[in-house]
Amino acid sequence: MMKAVQAQAKGQPFVQRELPEPHPGAGEVRIRVLACGVCHSDMFVREGLFPGISYPRIPGHEVVGVIDETGEGVREFRPGETVGVGWHGGHCFTCPACRAGDFILCSRGRITGISMDGGYAQFMVAPDHALARVPEGMDPAQAAPLLCAGVTTFNSLRHAGARPGDLVGVLGVGGLGHLAIQFAHKMGYRTVALSSGPDKADLARSLGAHEVIDMKAQNPAETLMKMGGARVILATAPNSAVISQLVEGLGRNGKMLLLGADIEPMKISPLQLIGARKTLAGWPSGDALDSEETLAFAKQAGIRPMVECYPLEKAEEAYHVMIENRARFRVVLTMV
Ligand SMILES: [Zn+2]
Ligand SMILES: [Zn+2]
Repeated sequence: MMKAVQAQAKGQPFVQRELPEPHPGAGEVRIRVLACGVCHSDMFVREGLFPGISYPRIPGHEVVGVIDETGEGVREFRPGETVGVGWHGGHCFTCPACRAGDFILCSRGRITGISMDGGYAQFMVAPDHALARVPEGMDPAQAAPLLCAGVTTFNSLRHAGARPGDLVGVLGVGGLGHLAIQFAHKMGYRTVALSSGPDKADLARSLGAHEVIDMKAQNPAETLMKMGGARVILATAPNSAVISQLVEGLGRNGKMLLLGADIEPMKISPLQLIGARKTLAGWPSGDALDSEETLAFAKQAGIRPMVECYPLEKAEEAYHVMIENRARFRVVLTMV
């Protein structure tokens, strides 16, 4: 038997249970979980907001652990290896996106902790092609948030078209933003943190921001234009009204990358985009190799998420700390 935390039904508190230990099928591994991040998207499980979700379900898609059993046909991974599993929980290899190698957009893709059981447990099973290798010596609790918040910011930024020295804005100094600032700095961009209020300015600078714009005290778009205009703005905070204004702070060929999920419509006129050839783009997180490269880059560059750890038994409390925005900045469950 193993300890696991489940969502039993839509809108209900998480419950800790003793469940039979899972075993891997063909092409799968079993992971002895060491740490699992508590992400804002766990709200989809808790509140039943994800289409087609079935209960009971073990949440958690920022999973780090050690392989302790491999199923038939697993060639690339062995028991004893430390691995991570992120949002992307596997793909079909045969749909049009998969045939193009674009696994994150698989039309039959599995989502860890949503369409299959996740990491709020002592053990979980995952397909081998959803595994990211965790660099030796990396603290599991530090690695966990890199599998969702980390890969989303690193992977979107490295594909955004900015070159070293270009001006990159990071909207929001929170769970995603505090990682985006570190990545942007270490990737060689002139990094500007955009924060509402002065209280996070020192922190943003200590994370590597070259400039900080207090959006309550300064007009952020005008200030960015005085700096030459942003080549990329990573919108990590879901705030459609602010994003609509910030389009004016993009320079030539500037790109607004939308990472924070918001259902509020943005108000942007075609005229704002046409002249300077600006674009607005969304970006999903990344596949297993993207996660592995995120972890490797973070280790090499000394990028560290700021985490608050809770034991598995306190998953319910940890969820509240996260969802009520009381954590600085990522909440992680630890199993040991
Ligand atoms: Zn997440
Ligand atoms: Zn597919």
